[in-house]
Amino acid sequence: MKNLFRPLLCLILVFTTTLLVSCGSPTKAKIPTVYTPEKIAQLQEYRIPIAEAREQMSTLKEFIDTENWVNTRTFIHGPLGELRQNMAIVARKLLPKDQKPAQQVAKELFGHFERIDAAAKQRNSISAKNEYSEAIKDFDAYLNLVPSNS
Ligand code: ZN
Repeated sequence: MKNLFRPLLCLILVFTTTLLVSCGSPTKAKIPTVYTPEKIAQLQEYRIPIAEAREQMSTLKEFIDTENWVNTRTFIHGPLGELRQNMAIVARKLLPKDQKPAQQVAKELFGHFERIDAAAKQRNSISAKNEYSEAIKDFDAYLNLVPSNS
């Protein structure tokens, strides 16, 4: 249901944006510095699955703590694929001043995931735990950049 709805919503948003752009004067384009309630509502669609992925990080922690390396790697290669995509989409929709920091912190986060994966491959518990706590810091930093209406 959600997957069917999303492309339609995107289409509506594209259409609305096109209308707004064609009505406004292109020479006087103002750079937004605050989030409007409409913008926040629009961002929620993508923020929700990201926040859910943040909650699922406790599952990853459990796998690392119990040295379940197979599940650690499966987790990183599975549910996190969509997260990367959602984070990239949201970063582009943030205020101009927040776009670069969000992209940077998302990039760092996935660097930690890659190193957790490498640590799991080597059964290196210390490295996996260290990268996990760094990943959490970046994940929270990212979420702090995204406004929420909840
Ligand atoms: Zn980091």
